[in-house]
Amino acid sequence: MEQYEKTIRDNIAAIRARMDAAAAAAGRPAGQVQLCAATKTNDAERVKAAIRGGVDLCGENRVQEIQQKLPQGAYEGAPLHFIGRLQTNKVKYLVGVVDVIESVDRVPLLETIDKLAQKKGVVQKILLEVNIGGEESKSGFTPAEAMEIAAKMGEYPGVFLCGLMAIPPLSVEKGDNLRYFQQMYQLFIDISQKKYDNVSMVCLSMGMSDDFEDAIACGSTMIRIGTAIFGARNYNK
Ligand SMILES: *Cc1c(COP(=O)(O)O)cnc(C)c1O
Repeated sequence: MEQYEKTIRDNIAAIRARMDAAAAAAGRPAGQVQLCAATKTNDAERVKAAIRGGVDLCGENRVQEIQQKLPQGAYEGAPLHFIGRLQTNKVKYLVGVVDVIESVDRVPLLETIDKLAQKKGVVQKILLEVNIGGEESKSGFTPAEAMEIAAKMGEYPGVFLCGLMAIPPLSVEKGDNLRYFQQMYQLFIDISQKKYDNVSMVCLSMGMSDDFEDAIACGSTMIRIGTAIFGARNYNK
């Protein structure tokens, strides 16, 4: 076995143990939280190793990386989500290709996905990205905007809204993001209770390598983990 394969497998096992412990501490049943490998900058072989190692799905940030790795069979055996910033002119490469586009962060993007999906005769699953920290540097809807859009989802038959995604501010100290995770969970429940057309709140995608236990404590159903699975990223390749 290659060294990287063993490292990735051991890392995933360690994360799973921490996920189970965090769920148990929060009084949540085991198996409610999915582990998404955030695979950016990692090659097809490493992505395959993560799937063999037991992640539930993969998340990619860049269309170009998907186009490179997809023909290499990188994602075989696991659903693929798009989790990065998406330019409107690249939507056509994703609709009907990825299982879920998690990073729907503005209305024109939503409209483009809807139109293209209708044209292709598919229904594209999406999440709304919420800028829960209200950060200038990040994209995403405010909670109020997300609620408004959810209410109008019936107007977009080419998409299906299945949850919310958030990337809270970089935390300085452990626990810094608890309040943001709590706000996200509240919004998730609030939207869910409205029973809007074309909406089913099943996925609350939040929590990364540094804060996933707090996210699980607050009700996350999907954590997106890069560094803790693959090690530090090398952007210079
Ligand atoms: C890279 C990335 C992650 C994973 O980050 P780590 O801190 O390496 O676990 C999660 N979500 C998104 C959107 C990312 O771009």
